[in-house]
Amino acid sequence: LTIPHFDKFRTNLENGYNKVKLDVNNEYSWGEVATYIPPLAKADPLWFATGFCSTDGQFCQFGDTSKVFSIQSIGKVVAYSFIHNIMGEDVHNFVGKEPSGVAFNAPVFDKQGKPHNPMVNTGAIMVCSLIVHQGKNIQDLLEFYKRASDQEVIEVDEELYLEEKLTGYTNHALTNLMLANNVFPKKANPQETKAFSDESLDLYFKNCSVLVNTQSLAKFGAMLANNGINPSTGDRILRPNTVKSVVTLMTSCGMYDGAGSFIKDLGVPSKSGVSGGLLSVIPGLGAFSTWSPPLNKEGNTVRGIQLIHELSAIYNNFNLFHR
Ligand code: GLU
Repeated sequence: LTIPHFDKFRTNLENGYNKVKLDVNNEYSWGEVATYIPPLAKADPLWFATGFCSTDGQFCQFGDTSKVFSIQSIGKVVAYSFIHNIMGEDVHNFVGKEPSGVAFNAPVFDKQGKPHNPMVNTGAIMVCSLIVHQGKNIQDLLEFYKRASDQEVIEVDEELYLEEKLTGYTNHALTNLMLANNVFPKKANPQETKAFSDESLDLYFKNCSVLVNTQSLAKFGAMLANNGINPSTGDRILRPNTVKSVVTLMTSCGMYDGAGSFIKDLGVPSKSGVSGGLLSVIPGLGAFSTWSPPLNKEGNTVRGIQLIHELSAIYNNFNLFHR
């Protein structure tokens, strides 16, 4: 067993969850729910759930686990996993591997005019364009996520998707800048280029609006922690090289403007999203999912971060760089 005394682990996670939940006076309670996407502004700041799945499929979860939330930027991990598994390192002819040093939705590019990495909006829109270029669509991404996380039903929040498509002005602008930079896969003529970029951005919006819960996220993460094999079904989902690429870029670029200090403090590859989700992968051990809408000033879920701190204080083998 990866975690020999899972009952003890479960108790520790439950205690950590309760401690963070009741702790209303610390810095982790200062967060604010994101409001720039209108439906997200309706979130209750008290919603809080967490789950853990080990690389041999031992699973537990606590809190508001029956609620679903939009995957948002954690979907960047799903989309990049999917396309890297098909194309391998050729993905990086179109999108870089460096932290951007600026906000996730900033209109900045590397020296070749390409997105800095797959974890920022420009990079994820580019990844979506590669998925479209391969003839794939949101159904293929949903099927992939279902197989990877052992779920029967995974859906897009249509209302949220339409809202983001309508009001995601920055993402429309970023797509136009990439058209201007001429960095999308080549198409026959300007009409096709425009239609292709529209379809790519559309896939990006849909992929942000996929509804998940702590169970499916923890299981997706456990697949990554298990070197690409779904622990529950034994199916190989990703090639080891893809897993390495995904987990490494989560480490360097997964936590917005807090990625550097998060990895320095905790050493746990993670990706967060604007709805308050957090996926933390501990290679060889398992994965945590947490969800709590209030975000800190770097854009990361405050309770999610605190919970990883709590558990890391008990288990000193979570830090990849200090075991
Ligand atoms: N749909 C959001 C956007 O594109 C995702 C942002 C995020 O979670 O970082 O603005």
